[in-house]
Amino acid sequence: MTLQQNLDRARGIKFPTNAVIDGKLVPARSGKTFDNVGPRDGKIVSKVAACEAGDIDTAVNAARAAFEDGRWRNKHPREKKKIMFKLAELMERDLEELAFLETLDMGKPIRDTLSVDIPTAINSIRWYAEALDKVYGEVATTPSDRLSYIVREPLGVVGAIVPWNFPLHMACWKVAPALATGNSIVLKPAEQSPSTALKLGALALEAGVPSGVLNVVPGYGDTAGQALARHMDVDLIAFTGSGEVGRKLMTYAGESNLKRVALELGGKSPQIVFADAEDLDAAADAAAWGIFFNQGEICNAASRLLVEASIKDEFLDRVLKRAKQYTPGDPLDPASVAGALVSEGQMKRVLGYIDTARKEGANLALGGKRVREESGGFYVEPTVFHRMDNTHTLAREEVFGPVLGVLAFTNEDDAVRIANDTVYGLASGLWTANISRAHRVARKLRTGLVWINGWDACDITVPFGGAKQSGFGRDRSLHALEKYTELKGISVTYKP
Ligand code: NAP
Ligand code: MG
Repeated sequence: MTLQQNLDRARGIKFPTNAVIDGKLVPARSGKTFDNVGPRDGKIVSKVAACEAGDIDTAVNAARAAFEDGRWRNKHPREKKKIMFKLAELMERDLEELAFLETLDMGKPIRDTLSVDIPTAINSIRWYAEALDKVYGEVATTPSDRLSYIVREPLGVVGAIVPWNFPLHMACWKVAPALATGNSIVLKPAEQSPSTALKLGALALEAGVPSGVLNVVPGYGDTAGQALARHMDVDLIAFTGSGEVGRKLMTYAGESNLKRVALELGGKSPQIVFADAEDLDAAADAAAWGIFFNQGEICNAASRLLVEASIKDEFLDRVLKRAKQYTPGDPLDPASVAGALVSEGQMKRVLGYIDTARKEGANLALGGKRVREESGGFYVEPTVFHRMDNTHTLAREEVFGPVLGVLAFTNEDDAVRIANDTVYGLASGLWTANISRAHRVARKLRTGLVWINGWDACDITVPFGGAKQSGFGRDRSLHALEKYTELKGISVTYKP
């Protein structure tokens, strides 16, 4: 694969633009579209159906009808599994096309969409397909004249609202367990990255997921998203995105039908490097990768690097060397390890945080500027600040871009105190060769995930989600199934 070959291939990519509602690919009822801008060069790549409240209503009604007549829920588990496996197979067939759509939609490097984003999404579909007939109910301890059993039943209609940073991957974290448990779904992708979700909806139909079971409605957050979250016949909103929108979703739920809300929000995740770490090179690799992978547009980005004061300067040098490797290039170039930020707005937001960090007196050690401006795209170079403390805006707010803040600490208690001094609690990491310290600190960190001597050691088998203002409810693993099901206790009384 060369850049030229990829440019040629990209020209042949056909962008899906219609919503998927009740088994049909349809434009918005109003006929309106919105511009899907490609951050690679700032040009419009497609015009996508701008769904509004009426379209959402049609999609929710279709989802409800499908749920009520049991066309999916009541299928034999083996049949459901076969269809979900077929979906995974079709995604694999179209892997390259999905990867190009993702790269052109949101600017991440093609090498990542081909090897990480799309394969991970496929794995989610397959993993929940495999799991769906391996989860058992319970029998309670009862007096001898009674049998009480506890089953998990699907909720009904699930509204999934997903972000643009890992568009298909995040969609599949919701869609796969929701489908596996027998729900119907209305999926709203982010306006910046609707294409792969629309393609997923079409592939699900091709695989044999019955019409109405998986609907995909592109549109703006405050119209389509809000209509979905306020709908009286939606049972759950499963969300990944910002805390600001997460708060609104809880309000909408409270003001409508008290639907359940599950929130996977952002973070300000600390990675702690103790002077006694066994492999400081591996720690430096992780420090750079943890914040610069995916242009830093990751909810669990390692955006605060906490380094023991005695090794700070020397360790920072190692990180800076590695950071330079993430200088952005054309996302279609197979050699690029970093690409464009998702939008002009996001780029400005990131540059704004860089400006604030400078004004608040943090020292710029690397980067700090927009690059590749001549491309028309939205690129920011890897940026590192140090000589700052945890009160700086850069240490407190989620930037969602390639900007690292380096903080020094004096001892273990100091490290734990700084790490926990945040409203967020998604992920944290620590590097040490001292096994007692590793376990001790891991238990003290108030985050949903802790990685010891590694970063983002993620797998579908381990639940993902946060503490504190990073949200509640878990994606991945069998625990995700809890979110899409309701417990029902059934008791039979009989003559002993
Ligand atoms: P966002 O506004 O939270 O968007 C996430 C999803 O929510 C999108 O599908 C969005 O739709 C939708 N949405 C927006 N307003 C809504 C509303 N009133 N009701 C229902 N749905 C609504 O995130 P963003 O604006 O794209 O990014 C802003 C910041 O959020 C980022 O800089 C970052 O800090 C954070 N973020 C976090 C994550 C994460 O994984 N935790 C992911 C993305 C962003 P539209 O896009 O169509 O408006
Ligand atoms: Mg886009």
